[in-house]
Amino acid sequence: MNNMTGNGLERALEFAKNYEICNAHTHIYPAKIADKAVVSIGRFYDIDMDVPVATSEMLLSDSEPFGVKKMLVCSAATDPSQVESINSFIISECQKHDKFLGFGTLHAGYEGDFSKEVDRLIKGGMRGIKLHTDFQKFNIDDRSAYNMYEALEGRLPVLFHMGDTRYDYSAPERLARLLRDFPKLEVIAAHLGGYSVWEQAREVLYGLDRVYYDCSSSLFALTPERATELIREIGTDRVMFGTDFPMWSSVSELLRFEKLSLTEEERRAIFSGNFKRYFGIE
Ligand SMILES: [Zn+2]
Repeated sequence: MNNMTGNGLERALEFAKNYEICNAHTHIYPAKIADKAVVSIGRFYDIDMDVPVATSEMLLSDSEPFGVKKMLVCSAATDPSQVESINSFIISECQKHDKFLGFGTLHAGYEGDFSKEVDRLIKGGMRGIKLHTDFQKFNIDDRSAYNMYEALEGRLPVLFHMGDTRYDYSAPERLARLLRDFPKLEVIAAHLGGYSVWEQAREVLYGLDRVYYDCSSSLFALTPERATELIREIGTDRVMFGTDFPMWSSVSELLRFEKLSLTEEERRAIFSGNFKRYFGIE
């Protein structure tokens, strides 16, 4: 958390004070596994995570200096047996914290009734579901997952982890194929459509009107010029700011975002305008 202290925090506060901010991509875990979860994600990506313990309280304290209005919180089930307990956890955290906007999770291998679990999520106030198919080990467009998408289409949007040169599960062309097969499925493609495979995302996803994006865990790996180009190519009305907490702190993502050469209006759209419109928040 080097950036949390001293000049980094001051600079981020100075930059952010003119903006209303919503965070479209964060992860929370129950306190008893919140440190282990961070260690294992850090190993998976070989990246030092900005925040060592990903609890709700840590997320709130990370966001508090910037007055973050809403945080999309989620946690993907790496094993089908975790689906219901993770969903119960996210539902109860969202009941405790009104700044949270919750996304539940599902898994292609879930043995329960998908539509019943989707009913339970909607009743619990959840606004979507998160899938991280690299962790979950099924292809986004795997036929065995189609029952799951049938239960979601027209009901809840899916936030997909997208891309990674090391895996094929979450390749952009798989999402493009899924969208052809599910014409009413709403999706948010994380990481500008494909972490470390942005060229493929440009080719197969950026032309599609139906896809929204977040820019989390991308700015650290792109030059500000390249990131600005990609965001403009998608359309600044369809990209949402996110930190991928606990991967990155608000301070470090805000300082990276500041370097993009976007207009004031574009910044406002990405920081909160698009998020509020998407989720119908005042
Ligand atoms: Zn994520």
